[in-house]
Amino acid sequence: MQGRLHFRPDVPGLDASYMPRRHSPVWKAPLPGWKQMLDEASAKMTSAVLPPIFFRADDIGVASKAFDALCSLFRFYRVPLAMAVIPAWLSETRQEKVFRAAPVDEDLWNWHQHGWRHINWQKDGAKSEFGSDRSPERQYEDILQGRTKMERIFGPNFTPVFSPPWNRFSTAALRALGKLDFKGISATAPLPPGVKSLCGIKHLPTRLDLHTRMAKNPAGDYALLIDQFSGISKMKGLTGILIHHQQMTPFAFEFLDRMLYNLKYVIRARFSSFKEMLKNTDERQADARLR
Ligand SMILES: [Zn+2]
Repeated sequence: MQGRLHFRPDVPGLDASYMPRRHSPVWKAPLPGWKQMLDEASAKMTSAVLPPIFFRADDIGVASKAFDALCSLFRFYRVPLAMAVIPAWLSETRQEKVFRAAPVDEDLWNWHQHGWRHINWQKDGAKSEFGSDRSPERQYEDILQGRTKMERIFGPNFTPVFSPPWNRFSTAALRALGKLDFKGISATAPLPPGVKSLCGIKHLPTRLDLHTRMAKNPAGDYALLIDQFSGISKMKGLTGILIHHQQMTPFAFEFLDRMLYNLKYVIRARFSSFKEMLKNTDERQADARLR
């Protein structure tokens, strides 16, 4: 594509005073020189052979200005977005509003399951909805309930992938996913300790988390983020980038806009989607059967 695109300093639907209640320190306000740092890192990535990239947006189920803005951004760049839906959050009214911003059958959205209720069952330590403190039977029931609701609401547009809340899961959850015919699981790479095999389920790993960052020092964290972004060019397999729109400030939107622009038009990355990745697996399996 030639020339300059319609590149927006303001994202539609968000005014300058918009600020989410919860956000990482790095996204509070635009950092001096942020654009230059991102552009320089992007320019260096043009010579690398990049892995296919996908985007996943978590905690979907309630429409908001930020959700509308997120959908417009991905529609603008025609980049697929895997929507991790919390099944229990969806009421009829909420569904209607979500589908107004992202029509259910629009090809860009890969609707898939993000747990069941997104609640923490661990008595202590790291949060998890499908961890060691929930019995295998309960985990199975929760996943089944979620899947049943997802299929009822999304019909043929449901992608059989599971993103565990907080990116954590037990082998019991994995077994339940296998029984319930899930084809993919999307969680942070590497796999949790103790999980040796995925029981034939494809892993769709995320490697860059944009919005739930805990570091206190914005400048230091931004430098780290740019480093992690550059690191994508050294990845071998599929690489997912994680979004939490509820925690996105106007600066976070501006950054994502620029990052999408650079990935698409400067770096010329190849974007993949859950649908495409599962289709590839199916074809390989069919191929193997033929031989
Ligand atoms: Zn979540």
